[in-house]
Amino acid sequence: MAAPLLELKGVSREYQSGDRTIAVLKDINLSIAEGEMVAIVGPSGSGKSTLMNIIGLLDRPTAGTYAITGSETHQLDSDALSRLRREHFGFIFQRYHLLSELSALGNVEVPAIYADRPSDARQARGAALLDRLGMGDRAGHKPGQLSGGQQQRVSIARALMNNGNVILADEPTGALDQQSGEEVLGILSELHAEGHTVVIVTHDMKVAARAQRVIEISDGRIVADRRAREENAQVPHKQSSIAEKEHRSAGWGELGNRLREAFLMAILALKAHRLRTFLTMLGIIIGIASVVSVVALGEGSQRKVLDNINNLGTNTLEIFPGKSFGDTRSGRIKTLVVADADALAKLTYVSAVTPTVSTSSTVRFGSTEANALINGVGDAYFSVKGSKLVAGRLFDADGVRRMVQDAVIDQNTATTLFADKGLDPTGQVIFVGKVPVRVIGVIASQQGGFGSSDNLSVYLPYTSVQARFLGDMSLRSITLRINDDTESSLAEAAATQFLERRHGTKDFFILNTDDIRQTITSTTRTMTLLVSAIAVISLLVGGIGVMNIMLVSVSERIAEIGVRMAVGARRQDILQQFLIEAVLVCLLGGTLGIALALSFGLAFNRLGSNFAMVYSGSTIALAFTCSCVIGLTFGYLPARNASRLDPVAALSRD
Ligand code: ADP
Ligand code: MG
Repeated sequence: MAAPLLELKGVSREYQSGDRTIAVLKDINLSIAEGEMVAIVGPSGSGKSTLMNIIGLLDRPTAGTYAITGSETHQLDSDALSRLRREHFGFIFQRYHLLSELSALGNVEVPAIYADRPSDARQARGAALLDRLGMGDRAGHKPGQLSGGQQQRVSIARALMNNGNVILADEPTGALDQQSGEEVLGILSELHAEGHTVVIVTHDMKVAARAQRVIEISDGRIVADRRAREENAQVPHKQSSIAEKEHRSAGWGELGNRLREAFLMAILALKAHRLRTFLTMLGIIIGIASVVSVVALGEGSQRKVLDNINNLGTNTLEIFPGKSFGDTRSGRIKTLVVADADALAKLTYVSAVTPTVSTSSTVRFGSTEANALINGVGDAYFSVKGSKLVAGRLFDADGVRRMVQDAVIDQNTATTLFADKGLDPTGQVIFVGKVPVRVIGVIASQQGGFGSSDNLSVYLPYTSVQARFLGDMSLRSITLRINDDTESSLAEAAATQFLERRHGTKDFFILNTDDIRQTITSTTRTMTLLVSAIAVISLLVGGIGVMNIMLVSVSERIAEIGVRMAVGARRQDILQQFLIEAVLVCLLGGTLGIALALSFGLAFNRLGSNFAMVYSGSTIALAFTCSCVIGLTFGYLPARNASRLDPVAALSRD
């Protein structure tokens, strides 16, 4: 004789409550044959649901054995149990336990998703089942739009979805009115007639009257086991027995399929709580936006500053009187003189030298007057600085020697003095203070240096400026252009030594543009690093926010998790679903964050700041990766909590 379909021997179930143990089931011996319709009756609290959960592999007995077609279930791990649930059992609950975000059809399909059935086959079967249960025209309705009886039909369709041969119904009519209850029982009887094994838990004897066999439980023990009428041992064999069902392991296609479903589910879940999803993302949005903006700002400002330095001339040294920048006495140090410049010019590693002096004064042409910086420079100045001549010519060494009153002006000055008169500046005579000078050339305005580029600059031979404006022979600075094949730091050391010997003391200091470049590069890099660290901290806080909300979401959706497990979800499926939700939230947040940063940059650049934010693809890619990693990291704990839930405990919480 074949082993019975389900067989419990000496099964007991105890709960630990504080330091007391409560025995809910005591020494249950029960076997159910394939094709039977069994009602389990008994008063509330007698242990019916507990027994049902053990039969349905949602719970394990504390002691005793449970065999399905003769195979012991004791040693099976949770994945094997969920496979058995998925393939052989269909659950119907008193409170339907439909997933509220899904349509009727969507709910019916859920067990097939975990059984890796392809989507079209799933839909066809789900629709056919709903049709058969008289719900064909309601397939697109959400559970909230259905009556109790209709919801219970949907849950019956779900129970049938994977073609499991055992239907377990725990008080299926308990929440229904008389008529709907009758209909549901009618359906269950039909299913039995088709060959399904049906186990109904009820405390209603009228319901029990429909079964061929009634098992009565009281206080955790079976007190009666009656067969209502003689069974005609004609079990219509509509399907294979449990032992024959093949074990199919999921291949890549199925894994992809399941991932896709989990992804769709995650989107539904996020959509169901839009505001919460958005608030969860906010931390990530702000974090990512600030990381991306900060890096772009850092990059932009660094480029700007480096541009400015490059404008100072390449490979130049600038010698100033005084100890260092900001030396308050440097104005009184008069030891830097033209003779120094001439001596430096003779050195082999120096390719050009220009002394500079400067003062500020008004410039006037006709009735137009403005303040300008008057630079007294040598003829080599323009080549040292790499100035671009726009019109006219520059003064030469001879002009410098003769202290000519010839001026080169920059475009700013030209525009200010001549634009409204429509005159060609070259050849015009302008007044610098009270001194008339002739404009001989126009050069492009120096973008930057460290002053604002809006300044007006007028260039005269330094000899003229010293004689006519300063009455003083000392220099503001000497600028050297180093031979291209000489290392600027070596040249700096040599020039320092040379001048020190000439002056007998070090009453000057040298600015090396290479040094400045390096200092600024490393400074902005440090700044970027620092601010990035702050941004990373804000990302971390955002991540913790995600974790927090995910934990809340898990505890809110415990019933959903229980249902999913009851219809055959593996722990891994639940883990995956919540992880995908977390990653999705973070990726979405990351995308919005990047968009925010880009629009911030757009506004920033539009506002006409004097440098642009520079976004690099790698920063954006990094931001995306960051969001993913945050999702995975901070989603893991909540997802693991969800996957480790005990299905019974999850289902009993409403
Ligand atoms: P029924 O379905 O027959 O109404 P149950 O099987 O749900 O009864 O419960 C039987 C008994 O087991 C009840 O007294 C209930 O309080 C107890 N019980 C059920 N689940 C737990 C649990 N997780 N922890 C402690 N006691 C439980
Ligand atoms: Mg119960």
